[in-house]
Amino acid sequence: LHNTVQELKGNIRVFCRVRPLLTGDQNHMHHIEFPAHDNKALKLAKTEESHTGRAGDTQKSYSFSFDRVFGPAAAQSEVFQEISLLVQSALDGYSVCCFAYGQTGSGKTHTMEGGEADEAQGMIPRAVRQVFRATHDLREHGWQYTFVASFVEIYNETLRDLLYTGKPSKRPEHEIKKTSEKSSHITVTNLTYQKVTSEDEVCNLILLANQNRSTARTNLNDHSSRSHSVFQLDIEGENVGRGAKCKSSLCLVDLAGSERVQKSQSQGERFKEMTAINNSLTNLGIVITALANKESFIPYRNSKLTYLLQNCLGGNSKMLMFVNISPEAESFGESLNSLRFASKVNDC
Ligand code: ADP
Ligand code: MG
Repeated sequence: LHNTVQELKGNIRVFCRVRPLLTGDQNHMHHIEFPAHDNKALKLAKTEESHTGRAGDTQKSYSFSFDRVFGPAAAQSEVFQEISLLVQSALDGYSVCCFAYGQTGSGKTHTMEGGEADEAQGMIPRAVRQVFRATHDLREHGWQYTFVASFVEIYNETLRDLLYTGKPSKRPEHEIKKTSEKSSHITVTNLTYQKVTSEDEVCNLILLANQNRSTARTNLNDHSSRSHSVFQLDIEGENVGRGAKCKSSLCLVDLAGSERVQKSQSQGERFKEMTAINNSLTNLGIVITALANKESFIPYRNSKLTYLLQNCLGGNSKMLMFVNISPEAESFGESLNSLRFASKVNDC
């Protein structure tokens, strides 16, 4: 039993990434310490003015440790280097799921998608490139692969196909369904499952997804920060000579902003959005904990996000969560919340 627990713990990793302070950030940096010679720890500190007016200020500090902590200077290539083994295991038959969790503006999209310049590219383009390069080499050993990409956005518990190319007025609705009565595998109705053969093809799909997203953004005020976006690459390999097959998925998820909104400040649509986001992020935590504890019932179906990711999360799978942190002083409370959530996942 100990081994199984170890093995499972080994299959959940949490990385923390603190973005740099940007010009235009409202506030000075809150105090984050990165202990020297320890790339797994960080400490958040806050000076509170004393209320008596006489005694000195008090310092409150909170220490956290994760599988890895990246400071503001960490380059995309450095971060990717730490996940490349994980990506590689998607070719060894493990399903791999990588999340970016954090408040809006903390660097989730930067981490996952990144910028256009080569060095600015995020985890999605780098992971895709690595998969195609590795399979290129494996072909010489008799393996043949098929790849299918999909890209979905979940907003208010409704799925939207980011690879849709039809008329906007004809957008179909989607439902998550089991592939068959007996199977625990799910599929999404009316979704674009695009066969791809190269990293360039995937890059074009990512561009298409961004166009699909930005149309929505003009309609709904910064819609993207309130929706989850799920990129998935399904990989099927076969080695006829050896009579071997493998099937897995690589999922990269940019989660909706985790910030709590004061109930009194939000009404109508905003309140509905907030509730949907809170519920799905809470349920994600519950599902991860249940998986780590090898519980017999995993409540995937309590939210669209976990239900959609069911193929990736259950069974033979590995998981990585980035907790993205903004260094702005005014984000202190949110940073603390994010780090606490991530610690729970880390302790699973
Ligand atoms: P989120 O997706 O969490 O809302 P973004 O990824 O959009 O946040 O990041 C907010 C801003 O900070 C963007 O302008 C982004 O380019 C910048 N940014 C985030 N992380 C970094 C980083 N590690 N290095 C440089 N700029 C970053
Ligand atoms: Mg974003």
